[in-house]
Amino acid sequence: MARKKDEQFATIVEIACRHDKPVRIGVNWGSLDQELAARLMDDNAHLPQPRPASEVMHEAMIISALDSAARAEEIGLGHDQIILSVKMSGVQDLIAVYRKLAARCDYPLHLGLTEAGMGSKGIVASTAALAVLLQEGIGDTIRISLTPEPGGSRNQEVIVAQEILQAMGLRSFTPAVVACPGCGRTSSDYFQHLAQQIQGYLREQMPVWRGRYPGVEALTVAVMGCVVNGPGESKQAHIGISLPGTGEVPVAPVYVDGTKTVTLKGENIAAEFQQIVTDYVIRRYGGREHVAG
Ligand code: SF4
Repeated sequence: MARKKDEQFATIVEIACRHDKPVRIGVNWGSLDQELAARLMDDNAHLPQPRPASEVMHEAMIISALDSAARAEEIGLGHDQIILSVKMSGVQDLIAVYRKLAARCDYPLHLGLTEAGMGSKGIVASTAALAVLLQEGIGDTIRISLTPEPGGSRNQEVIVAQEILQAMGLRSFTPAVVACPGCGRTSSDYFQHLAQQIQGYLREQMPVWRGRYPGVEALTVAVMGCVVNGPGESKQAHIGISLPGTGEVPVAPVYVDGTKTVTLKGENIAAEFQQIVTDYVIRRYGGREHVAG
């Protein structure tokens, strides 16, 4: 069995060499060389003070990954054509094993928590683990593994991965909509609907905007729930709107690049605000050619 695995590994590496392609060598507990794991566990048991089993498991994963990488290089794969991953399903295990692996090699590392789970549990667990590592500069590519809700979309994995990178300020993918949490001043949930609508609109436009308006992914839009405190946050964003709070005049001041440009009122605030955002994107990110056109 082990020999067959070795042959398959060699075949894949040879094909990658022929086509000048990188290879990700991924180790997980399920596919770990059982002989290696057993040997390390036995060695540990004979130590005067045996280490916890989880540490032995981490060591087995790391040795397996580094041995496989060395084998791939022997076969002919370039050192810079190898990416390693040692995915695990526990948050603390994942953080610990990647810290150790990063300290022992200079290969690019692919991060991912396996079997993270469904819904908010999976998102929170993945974010908790990856955020710690990314903050320490560990990790070059990431994958979020979520169990989709029945009938749910796999796209959510990509959105969560992008949002982690964007929230940490590592890379922008989609313009960010900042909305206030709402409080006693909020007169209705209209600002939440507007924030959601604008976020959805921006996300929908991105497949086209990304190519047409370079840099648009760094745009920030603020949607705030009252006119007393909303303008402060609005001025920090590229574009911000403050909706009227309880007892306030039913008008919505809009700030563009920190300056109040217009006050919206009436039934069409959402549509007018969306148009302001669109015009801003064209003007700011469209480049000379588009503006001239
Ligand atoms: S911006 Fe206004 S409505 Fe929103 S949380 Fe602050 S005070 Fe409350």
